[in-house]
Amino acid sequence: MRAQIDAFTYDALPARIVMGAGKREEVAAEVGRLGCTRPLIVTTREQAALGDDVARQFDAGSTTRFADAAMHTPWDVTQRALDAAQTARADCVVAIGGGSSIGLSKAIALRTKLPQIVLPTTYAGSEATPIIGETRDGQKHTQRTLQVLPEVVIYDVELTLSLPVALSIASGLNAIAHAIEALYAADANPVTSLMAEEGIAALRESLPRIVHSPKSVETRRLAQYGAWLCGTCLGTVRMGLHHKICHVLGGTFDLQHAQTHAVLIPHVVAYNAHAAPQAMARIARALNARHAWTGLYELAVELDAPRSLEALGMLESGIDRAVELIMQNTYSNPRAPDAHALGHMLRQAWKGVPPEPME
Ligand code: NAD
Repeated sequence: MRAQIDAFTYDALPARIVMGAGKREEVAAEVGRLGCTRPLIVTTREQAALGDDVARQFDAGSTTRFADAAMHTPWDVTQRALDAAQTARADCVVAIGGGSSIGLSKAIALRTKLPQIVLPTTYAGSEATPIIGETRDGQKHTQRTLQVLPEVVIYDVELTLSLPVALSIASGLNAIAHAIEALYAADANPVTSLMAEEGIAALRESLPRIVHSPKSVETRRLAQYGAWLCGTCLGTVRMGLHHKICHVLGGTFDLQHAQTHAVLIPHVVAYNAHAAPQAMARIARALNARHAWTGLYELAVELDAPRSLEALGMLESGIDRAVELIMQNTYSNPRAPDAHALGHMLRQAWKGVPPEPME
């Protein structure tokens, strides 16, 4: 049966999406299309060689490489990258990598208004959002502004073939979490919800196949397509309790980003189950499961994904502090956050036991 259509607002985001194997060879053409000639090429240290490959498409001396991108966009790194952009007289940024490289590209664009061409290599989805999170003085600040939305996204599936299986799984579940929260968002709309359901289904199908055939272009293409859809969901509607918890745990306890999402999403879905029945039905349909929360937990077991906060290095004694921080300035969520219930849910997630739907 079709979902009921209520009144809605949909803010479509401008984006040029170029998808296909080998499309990284078109970076120079895309830079030229924007009227630019002097890119600053941004990567992490581990992915510096990808920056060198892309630089070969340009005349000698017209590119500058910056290979120090780091998780959570630390301000000191951004300052050095801004200096590099200025010294090089860069007229655009090309970022190759996951959310860390793309986060740095966004931080540069925010201060310089330079256009961005980004080539994602994980499933985190930052490339599709007008959101930037930056860490300064030990605190992560997040803002939403169209200034940081990349002008061009090149999805070259070949860049994802090297993503280690464990990181692919965690990153894929991170993407699924964006789509799930989009389905019950306060500003959910029919277009984003379509993308969400399709994104979850594409990742549900591809992630188990990646475990067995991580180098399969066909499988990786389906996963990347799903990740694009899920990232677009993150960019077009507001996220709820799950993202709030992940921000608190990532920022305060320094837990790894994608893995924290992977552990928590079945538990938060169980927490929200009774408050968002239509969204739950769509999530279950996309997962081909009886219930949204069991489908997610079973998928995590099937993929051998991280399932406990303890395994990510969190101490049980941190749960009370986490609840306190989550209760300050909560995000909109179908079920009102309740300190007692949140504490119980986090203890379940800490232990890694199956989630329980809560009244
Ligand atoms: P990441 O970019 O930090 O990458 C993790 C590690 O994997 C890095 O060492 C990287 O070099 C390596 N790597 C990435 N792709 C690879 C590949 N294909 N092959 C081999 N190695 C590869 O991880 P991430 O999860 O993509 O990004 C996390 C960051 O992105 C966090 O800071 C998070 O807050 C941010 N983020 C922001 C948004 C947003 O909308 N602003 C959305 C999602 C994530």
